[in-house]
Amino acid sequence: MNTLLPTTVVGSLPKPSWLAQPETLWSPWKLDEDTLIEGKQDALRIAIHEQSRRGIDIVSDGEQTRQHFVTTFIEHLSGVDFEQRKTVRIRDRYDASVPTVVGPVRRERPVFVDDAKFLRATTDRPIKWTLPGPMTMVDTLFDDHYKSREKLAWEFAAILNQEAKELEAAGVDIIQFDEPAFNVFLDEVKDWGVAALERAAEGLRAETAVHICYGYGIKANNDWKATLGSQWRQYEETFPLLQSSSIDIISLESQNSHVPMDLIELLRGKKVMLGAIDVASETIETPEEVADTLRKALQFVDADKLIPSSNCGMAPFPRDIALAKLSALSAGTRIVREELERSAPKVP
Ligand code: ZN
Repeated sequence: MNTLLPTTVVGSLPKPSWLAQPETLWSPWKLDEDTLIEGKQDALRIAIHEQSRRGIDIVSDGEQTRQHFVTTFIEHLSGVDFEQRKTVRIRDRYDASVPTVVGPVRRERPVFVDDAKFLRATTDRPIKWTLPGPMTMVDTLFDDHYKSREKLAWEFAAILNQEAKELEAAGVDIIQFDEPAFNVFLDEVKDWGVAALERAAEGLRAETAVHICYGYGIKANNDWKATLGSQWRQYEETFPLLQSSSIDIISLESQNSHVPMDLIELLRGKKVMLGAIDVASETIETPEEVADTLRKALQFVDADKLIPSSNCGMAPFPRDIALAKLSALSAGTRIVREELERSAPKVP
């Protein structure tokens, strides 16, 4: 990737309305089994086309083939009973009905590898693929077998590593693990969270990323954010651990968040995927706003290590808004890219 400030999306994009109900998380598929694969592939084609035409440099599947960023992966594992549901408090924030771990967890077959092969064949741009992180998976289940969050996380890490290696072989350039739980269970992050994440990423030649965040703009998350005070400093504890970890890229939100920008100085040396697009507001950022966020970030991260992105997944948005936000992201990035090129010393 030679582009300065390569743009990307964190994860999901809205699905076409003929594939799944828009503006809904966990939206059921509208197609039946015979036509679903073809429908998902068409949605992938559209996602790639829109990202490319709107100037996104590192493209993703926009999570068009999954219903949920954690559960879809877990559905493909044995040892988890989806009929046996328990209501548990997840992310220490809201109650949800979740499946139960009833025996040893195992990946019986690849989960996203065929989708990744299709994506690789559809575009020449670098591609990024997202997987849930081990701690976030643990925190989305009721465990009646291992009875230890740490033990279960290590099992998931090994499974994620198998999947990640096959995604890499399918031509994925960046493998991203989503760990929103890292902002909640700070002691566990220290004790085993980062180690389990490194286990999931072990031996990969592809670049690796971790996305930590304060969640989608849903009510439970917004209420929680209101309790965090005027400065969100959770990253102050996790960033030093990630800075000394084997993970290459750290992803966080910035636009309209209360994360003090200077905290990214704690990551110096790593690549930073910085959210310059708010996913909790339908107001479309102006290119100048995006540029301003990136300029502030450049005080704390080297220009060759900054990757402008959205704050989080955009699945809950109306489609036209999400797409307009992609255009704003590239337009704002272009402004800063040109400034950097103008100020770079000329080689005689
Ligand atoms: Zn997120």
